[in-house]
Amino acid sequence: ATLPYDDENIFAKILRGEIPSKKVYEDEWAYAFHDIAPQAPLHILVIPKGRYVSWDDFSAKASADEIAGFVRAVGTIARDHDLVEPGYRLLGNVGADGGQEVPHLHVHLFGGKPLGRMIS
Ligand code: 5GP
Repeated sequence: ATLPYDDENIFAKILRGEIPSKKVYEDEWAYAFHDIAPQAPLHILVIPKGRYVSWDDFSAKASADEIAGFVRAVGTIARDHDLVEPGYRLLGNVGADGGQEVPHLHVHLFGGKPLGRMIS
């Protein structure tokens, strides 16, 4: 089961500007910033502005506008960084088995080199 949303999680604090982040994109639906511990030459985290713990409650409870806005933001960021032609990787960790550490939905965007088959 999905945990209740915790307004004190680190990405909530980043959204509120209480913790600094290296912003790469922001619109009505999404915020994106560089991962503090990059695992590729380019490692961006994209988060919805809404209070969603994970893909589980986002997919179940978010409005069509929120879902569309978030998905479009991810694509826009990839295009803005000229990643479409070389390619890139999107990754979402969900819950304990997925290795999710921060309980605010985020998509990892990796790029900038050939990434091999998997980041495990
Ligand atoms: P997860 O394992 O939850 O999918 O990934 C969480 C990611 O958030 C990790 O890649 C980690 O490096 C990143 N992260 C954790 N705390 C911070 C922070 O305070 N600022 C930034 N920019 N990234 C963070």
